[in-house]
Amino acid sequence: MKTAKTIVFDLGKVLVDFDYAIAGRKLAARAKMPALELGQFLIHVPLIIRYETGLLTSEEFYQEVRAASGYLGDMAEFASLFADIFSPIEPMIQLHSELRRRGFPTYIFSNTNELAIRFIRNRFPFFQEFDGYILSYEHRSMKPEPRLYEVVEAQSGARGAEILYLDDRPENIAAGADRGWQVILQESSEKTRAAIQKLGLLNP
Ligand SMILES: [Mg+2]
Repeated sequence: MKTAKTIVFDLGKVLVDFDYAIAGRKLAARAKMPALELGQFLIHVPLIIRYETGLLTSEEFYQEVRAASGYLGDMAEFASLFADIFSPIEPMIQLHSELRRRGFPTYIFSNTNELAIRFIRNRFPFFQEFDGYILSYEHRSMKPEPRLYEVVEAQSGARGAEILYLDDRPENIAAGADRGWQVILQESSEKTRAAIQKLGLLNP
């Protein structure tokens, strides 16, 4: 197997954990809809898919949530409550730093939305330390659609087995493997570290 030159990280459940139930509880305190229902509404398909493929602006997304839930807060309050659901996965952030120190270019490759990214960028310094960011809502395409994987290849200038890709979702990993990328399904930080060690990409 060729040695990977570029490392591509999924964001959610790889570098940061998240829980939309937290946003559901906070928003419901100022809405008619109960917390559990509101938490589920935020990730309701097709609403969240439309938002994360850039078909809805953040303002339009807010208006839809407001109309459905009776939420009383303004856009600024909504933005701060909706996105304050993330916590860093420290062993993975540490692993990313080690790979950077060894000289590997790294990329974020995520199905996500503008409010989440704004929050993560402001809150977590590690997020600045990548060579590039391939974010679904900026390209009107979501993983596992091939088109978004093509953007990764175009931005990084790497392809096939030159790319090592980490993601917690089997369907996303499968789409990477179909392109000849090396892939690791994130199950735990420990297993991912061991797999990368085995590929010889970390200091012994
Ligand atoms: Mg994920």
